[in-house]
Amino acid sequence: MAEIVLSNVQKFFGTVQVIRDLNLTIADREFVVLLGPSGCGKTTTLRAIAGLEDITSGEIRIDGKPVQDLEASERDIAFVFQLYALYPHLTVFENIAFPLRAAGGARADVEREVNAVARALDIGHFLGKRPSALSGGDMQRVAIGRALVRRPKAILMDEPIGALDAKLREDMRTELKRLHIENKATSVYVTHDQVEAMSLADRIVVMSEGVLQQVGTPIEVYQNPANLFVAQFIGSPVMNISDAKLETEGGQAKVRLGNASEAFGVPVTLPRAIEASGRGDGGLSLGIRPEGVIVAHQPGEGLVPLEAHVIEPLGAYDIVDLKVGSGVLRARTVSGFVGKPGDTVFARLDENQTHFFDTRSGQSLG
Ligand code: ATP
Repeated sequence: MAEIVLSNVQKFFGTVQVIRDLNLTIADREFVVLLGPSGCGKTTTLRAIAGLEDITSGEIRIDGKPVQDLEASERDIAFVFQLYALYPHLTVFENIAFPLRAAGGARADVEREVNAVARALDIGHFLGKRPSALSGGDMQRVAIGRALVRRPKAILMDEPIGALDAKLREDMRTELKRLHIENKATSVYVTHDQVEAMSLADRIVVMSEGVLQQVGTPIEVYQNPANLFVAQFIGSPVMNISDAKLETEGGQAKVRLGNASEAFGVPVTLPRAIEASGRGDGGLSLGIRPEGVIVAHQPGEGLVPLEAHVIEPLGAYDIVDLKVGSGVLRARTVSGFVGKPGDTVFARLDENQTHFFDTRSGQSLG
């Protein structure tokens, strides 16, 4: 297995720069997910590691060895595509055996390795079938088996389960996680699905427009987003973000959301960065996740009366849109807590769950 290090990697397609000065170290045996919206450069990054795409400048090292001038076949890493790319005329066994045979593996070794991979992926019962007889999920298991069979230094996956339906995707997600726990192959995985990223990754690399926005464990990027982009890309439903007006009196921050007349008093010990910058004139944004909006039936200290608008019952909990001026504040409540649209409830923001951002730069202020 292997450590992968990207240093100052740049990639242009013509005059368009799609990777900007990317620095990233993927530890041996780590599962790293590249996450970002369509077109942010994650596939190009993955293909560059694999050697399927040249980089314009910078360096890529695998196990300490610069590889940017090596062919894909010389890098000893496997790639799994979204579309299964299996050989239709070969059986599942022969598909998985293919890389071993191509490398001149002895018959007994090939059989042993294919069977070991088939056991790990629980596909032993259809080794004799052809791909056309398999479901999408099983085809992708075979593609993953073919990638793993020659025990590559690393396995790179580009939206490998993106084409499957929702239920199957969930099953495969669990299976990929189990496989990684058992095999511990260094893995780099591309997706635009943040739930997939959160559930699979040891660390998530969030990208936007070719720029790395944040690297961290799923909990780090969820709880401490580095900027407004990450804050709004990670988490479903998305974090509430609003212009905030700070009124500081005796260490109390009164936060006014948007142009609304409803004001939330959030007592916070202000991060030094905010105090120092003297914001409060429109340069500050407040973020709060729906679970940080606390809703009560009765009025009380610090609670602001708000009218419920849309209520989405999701089974385990509800998402309730509360009208604040011309905007909405989304709250997560226990199921059925708010009776119906039009009801008035009383809300406050949990001061331990507030995030402040510089509106102009987007950077987190804590
Ligand atoms: P997606 O999830 O849609 O694949 P992505 O984040 O993986 O998106 P990339 O596929 O890496 O993004 O593409 C990044 C940018 O580079 C996009 O604007 C894309 O149009 C462009 N691009 C990708 N491949 C090429 C190419 N061969 N020639 C020119 N432009 C390209």
